[in-house]
Formats: sequence, structure tokens, C-alpha cells
Amino acid sequence: MNLSAANHRIPLSDGNSIPIIGLGTFSEPEHTSKGDCKASVRMAIDIGYRHIDGAKVYQNEHEVGEAIQEKIAEGKIKRKDIFYCGKLWCTEHAPELVRPTLEKSLKNLKLDYVDLYIIELPMAFKPGDDLYPRDENGKWIYHETNLCATWEVEVHPYFTQSKLLKFCQQHDIILVAYSPLGTSRNPSWVNVSSPPLLKDALLNTVGKKYSKTAAQIALRFNIQRGVVVIPKSFKPERIKENFQIFDFSLTEEEMKDIKALNTNTRFVELLMWSDHPEYPFHDEY
Ligand code: NDP
Repeated sequence: MNLSAANHRIPLSDGNSIPIIGLGTFSEPEHTSKGDCKASVRMAIDIGYRHIDGAKVYQNEHEVGEAIQEKIAEGKIKRKDIFYCGKLWCTEHAPELVRPTLEKSLKNLKLDYVDLYIIELPMAFKPGDDLYPRDENGKWIYHETNLCATWEVEVHPYFTQSKLLKFCQQHDIILVAYSPLGTSRNPSWVNVSSPPLLKDALLNTVGKKYSKTAAQIALRFNIQRGVVVIPKSFKPERIKENFQIFDFSLTEEEMKDIKALNTNTRFVELLMWSDHPEYPFHDEY
């Protein structure tokens, strides 16, 4: 695969293509200043990112949309240059809610289409304005759903998902890796009992060889095996750093060694919803 900063789209089986690196935009709303998301998306587009991963539940979709609109108005990009992935939240799984929810997102984004629309989690919650509905005792209010899980999958060197990747490759499906740097390690929703990915000795040693960081090695590992990555950062220097992964490649031996780091560590376990009848992580995939 001949990937470069200027040309890093990979083909999809329907004739479309997807940029192999995207900017993740999830950030806990209570710890994020207004405008940070917009500034980060603007900067990412200037650097060369052409894929933005967003969602209604991140509560900053309007900022993503404003950034894209401004960059179009500035003549930096055309709409068709951008690949935007939006997501259907758990309170909107009822079939009759899907279209109006997408339309609301499009209005928020000021876009007339999204490039990909996925089901954020295959677990339905009670429909309504409350994104995280609970009853008076604090118990989550779930909703019955009949869903063929449409699912994007956590992938990084501690969770290489080799079996799933093989299945996807055999069926011409492109895999998108969320949390490719091992998440922000917020203990309220992340399993932090496993060591931080970016402190890994091997990733840091290999990084030294190429004058790259552990984060860049973790990202390069995935794109080199055809997996799309969507690292999140709202820090200018890291947004830049995470994109500088097209000017070196890992040897076969290094790819093998990094693959061997796998410990099946899922950082995004969402254990608070593990009693949901559709909780997906009891299954092997
Ligand atoms: P990531 O693995 O992308 O890690 C993000 C964390 O790493 C942030 O704390 C960020 O901090 C930090 N970081 C970013 N770059 C670097 C770097 N170069 N060196 C050191 N630290 C760095 O985690 P996410 O869980 O955010 O996953 C990425 C994206 O995937 C999300 O933002 C979202 O768009 C999507 N996602 C989707 C899910 C789903 O269920 N569908 C679930 C989880 C994620 P800072 O911003 O301060 O730089």
C-alpha cells in the first residue's frame, strides 16, 4: 500500500474510499472548553487530515460542522475531500427515529450528507432527550431492540483483533480502529487496570529508532496492516504528530513484534452496561 500524507485514501468495496487516518473528536464535555473541538478540526484539515470521526453524543458536532464549513469557505477543501463519520446514539435505535436523527445531525453539521453513519453501540436505551436515561434509583433504562449489530471495533497493539481483521479482509470490509492510542484513560468508562499503551517499552524502543513517539508507532502499526485509525487529540502539536506517520515504515520483524504485544486488552469495556441484553463484549468478536 503506497500511503502518503497527500494521498492516504484506501478503497472500499462499494467504489468509495476512506482516508486511513481520521481525527477522533470525542472529549468529555465537562472537561472541554467551548471552541476546542472546532479549533482542532480546523487545524487538522490544515495539516492534511481529511477524515473526521464525530457523533451527536459527543455534543460538539456543530463545532465540527462549523470547522468544515469555514475550511470550505476559505477554499482549503471541497466537501467531497472530507470523509465525515457520524453515529446513531443508543436512544435513537427505533427504526422511525433513525432518519430524523440523521437529519438533525446534518442540520447541526450544516452538511447535506455524511460519508458514513454507524450505530454507536448496539445497545438501545429508552428513547427521549436524555442521552443517558436512568430511573429514580439511578438504574439505567434500557430499551428492547432487534438489531443486527453494526459495529466499529477497538484496535491497538494490546488488542490487535487479528481474527476479526482476517474475517474483514476475507470479505472486503475495512476495519476502523477507535481508541488507537489506548484512550484518554478516564476511569469512569475505561478499564484502567491495564498498563497505558503509550508507555509500552517496545513501542518506545521502536520509536527511538525512527525518531518517532510510541503514539506514532501504534498508529503506523495499524495503517500498515490496512486498518483505519481515528486518534483523538485537541492539542495542536499532537494533532500534527499523529499525522506524521507516512514518512517511515516498520519492518516485517517489527510488525510481528508489535502484533505479539496483544493481550486482548479492551480499554473501552463499558461495564456499567454489561447487564444490557445486547451488551456486545461477552461475544468473542
Ligand atoms: P485515543 O486512543 O485516540 O486516545 C485519545 C487520548 O490520547 C486523549 O487523551 C489525547 O489527549 C491523547 N493523545 C492523543 N494524541 C497523543 C499523542 N500523540 N501522545 C500522547 N497522547 C496523545 O482514544 P479515543 O477513545 O478518544 O478514541 C479515538 C476516537 O474514536 C474518539 O475520539 C471517537 O471519535 C472514536 N470512538 C468511538 C467509540 C465508539 O463507541 N463508537 C468509542 C471510543 C472512541 P489530548 O486530546 O489532550 O491530546
